[in-house]
Amino acid sequence: MQATVENPNQRLTEIKSQITSSARVANTEICQVNLIAVSKTRSIREIEPLIKSGQLVFGENRIEEAAEKWPEMKARYPDIQLHLIGRLQSGKVGGVGLFDVIHTVDRPSLIKALGKAMRDLGRQIPCFIQVNIGEEPQKGGCAIDALPEMLELARKDNIDIIGLMCIPPVGVEPAPYFALLAELAARHGLPNLSMGMSGDFETAIMLGATHVRIGTALFGERG
Ligand SMILES: *Cc1c(COP(=O)(O)O)cnc(C)c1O
Repeated sequence: MQATVENPNQRLTEIKSQITSSARVANTEICQVNLIAVSKTRSIREIEPLIKSGQLVFGENRIEEAAEKWPEMKARYPDIQLHLIGRLQSGKVGGVGLFDVIHTVDRPSLIKALGKAMRDLGRQIPCFIQVNIGEEPQKGGCAIDALPEMLELARKDNIDIIGLMCIPPVGVEPAPYFALLAELAARHGLPNLSMGMSGDFETAIMLGATHVRIGTALFGERG
């Protein structure tokens, strides 16, 4: 999707109206679709105008980058919600306290590490389990077959799993993958689906997405 860099607020309005139309097709309540503005690589100078026009939910993919940008912004705008959408190393879970939701829980060692980190924090951070929906070896996410075991481990470690997340294979029609993720979530009684990015969020919403993660279509191409 092409976007001009000059006016992120106008793009925000446009994306919200596209979300509304797609939600209508899906017969989803519009309030059930959460727009996560993916702010990785973007400066505070680019981000703050969106906050001022009411966008309060942001996604970052690296803990280090988030720790540089967000503590001050969260202090200034206490209603901001920060979502971790990037791959998480077990050794870095000490930094998750900055986040309000984690989308990328995908292996037993990470569940263990997160369980301990949240006990240390004294706070539950709602999590999605990321599923490697296209079974691509280079991608994050647990195998589809491993999902029941992951859910069981998370339950034992007292981690609040609120839904499933996926990133479908690049360059092919994403709808079947979104539909499969929706079916898996329904099978396990999970209410939320984190799926859909700049190029495919409308399709994702029509297939039940509750959280769309949008960077480029809001901020322009990443440099
Ligand atoms: C970067 C990123 C996005 C946003 O991608 P765009 O195509 O720029 O909208 C969404 N999800 C994840 C996991 C990402 O890393």
